[in-house]
Amino acid sequence: MAKIISIANQKGGVGKTTTSINLAVSFAVSEVKTLLIDLDPQANASTGLSELLNPVEKNVYDVIISGKANESIASTSIKDLHVIKSTNELVGAEVELVSVEDRERQLFLAIKPLLEKYDYILIDCPPSLGLLTLNALTSSDSVLIPIQCEYYALEGLGQLLNTVRLVQQQLNTNLEIEGVLLTMYDQRLNLSKQVADEVRSFFDDKVFETIIQRNVRLSEAPSFGKPALMYAANSMGAQNYLDLVEEILKNGN
Ligand code: ADP
Ligand code: MG
Repeated sequence: MAKIISIANQKGGVGKTTTSINLAVSFAVSEVKTLLIDLDPQANASTGLSELLNPVEKNVYDVIISGKANESIASTSIKDLHVIKSTNELVGAEVELVSVEDRERQLFLAIKPLLEKYDYILIDCPPSLGLLTLNALTSSDSVLIPIQCEYYALEGLGQLLNTVRLVQQQLNTNLEIEGVLLTMYDQRLNLSKQVADEVRSFFDDKVFETIIQRNVRLSEAPSFGKPALMYAANSMGAQNYLDLVEEILKNGN
């Protein structure tokens, strides 16, 4: 049975997509059967993996609106990695969903039949707490929260945690916090260390030991349609995400 993890934070630019892509690939190269669902209308995860993806007819819009999950799964050049791509039509889905009964559960109902096929399903969420993110959280066993080691890192987190609590109370009692991930850590900066300390004192042992360093290879790779591991296998960024996989697998046991 797959474990479903949402990568969520309503702030943009904190490393959700970078984490989704590189975590999914790092799972897959460890022979963990992985499905990455791109749930952001900006489709950055889809373009960031474009070199690897085999053609597929449908996308995440068809999954949410018509329940067509199987027809939307793209295989990739990595055996254990499958991807459901996004499209900007997804903006419309958020509006269409409003009048649907059980509107927060449409994603889960559609992907439920896939649970047997995978070990992990990762969902890259959009930068908002709207219906798409609610669908992701309602579907998930846990949520992974990336936090950028920058000014205002903790701003808006109260809102995110409130949303998680609401989902736990009303839509998905099983939802847990997988962990808080410090991203874009720059060890030359005092600020990075300060933010990391602040996040650790707030979230305590919920913060992953693995820290994602600021690494230029991680930001270059998407423009080549590749994950860091295939663009620059020996980069710090690629290694950080392999370490994260190890930590998640270890926590799961
Ligand atoms: P989000 O999905 O939360 O909006 P992204 O993953 O797209 O965030 O990251 C925002 C920007 O920061 C992107 O340009 C990305 O390439 C860059 N980035 C993300 N993580 C790192 C990192 N560890 N080091 C350097 N650049 C990064
Ligand atoms: Mg993103």
